[in-house]
Amino acid sequence: MEAERKAMVAVVKAHGVQDDRVLAAMGKVRRHVYIPEAHRGRDSYGDHPCPIGHGQTISQPFIVAYMTQRIGVKPGMRILEIGTGSGYQAAVLAELEAEVFSIEIVPALADHARGVLAAEGYSTVKVKTGDGYKGWPEHAPFDAIIVTCAPADIPKKLVEQLKDGGRMILPVGTGIQQLVILEKAGDSFKEIPDLHVRFVPMVKGSEE
Ligand code: SAH
Repeated sequence: MEAERKAMVAVVKAHGVQDDRVLAAMGKVRRHVYIPEAHRGRDSYGDHPCPIGHGQTISQPFIVAYMTQRIGVKPGMRILEIGTGSGYQAAVLAELEAEVFSIEIVPALADHARGVLAAEGYSTVKVKTGDGYKGWPEHAPFDAIIVTCAPADIPKKLVEQLKDGGRMILPVGTGIQQLVILEKAGDSFKEIPDLHVRFVPMVKGSEE
């Protein structure tokens, strides 16, 4: 699938992602193996979301690259991802040498992601089965938080778990969603509206 991957990177680049490290990581991570076998095909590298079972999708390559670029991933950064899904976004972050913590609410997807990430050599990625609204306080604060499912509003606990000077990127809204980049500075934060997007909703955990 090397040729498909190269073509995918060219499309992502043509759509405006210029960061060479991000493009190199996207060129390296084997996207198709993160897509469960029943849903896998040549199309695994098309610039669109793909089903991964349980009513969920792996995000479109451009969006993965774009969000990764916007958080400015540097080696050693501690990053929290909400919505592990297939594990693909987590792998891209790990390929960029970030320390990745990822939370997935559907146990079968969390298990799948753990298995693929380990098999692909990204065994440092920590995947927790649980409710992303709570974040992962034991490992906070995070340099960056990337949310890959859409809450109706910005989850407070996630803002609390962001480092001073840290950055969170998330789709917000029901129906029409917009990416928001939140930059934390002391007790206040700046919200920068960005692209319109379409993600699966961030579901409320049973105890909420
Ligand atoms: N980043 C993923 C794409 C995930 S799709 C990838 O690279 O494949 C969004 C995921 O968010 C789904 O797997 C869904 O189950 C999960 N999700 C939805 N609500 C959640 C919540 N409250 N906490 C954690 N995960 C959630």
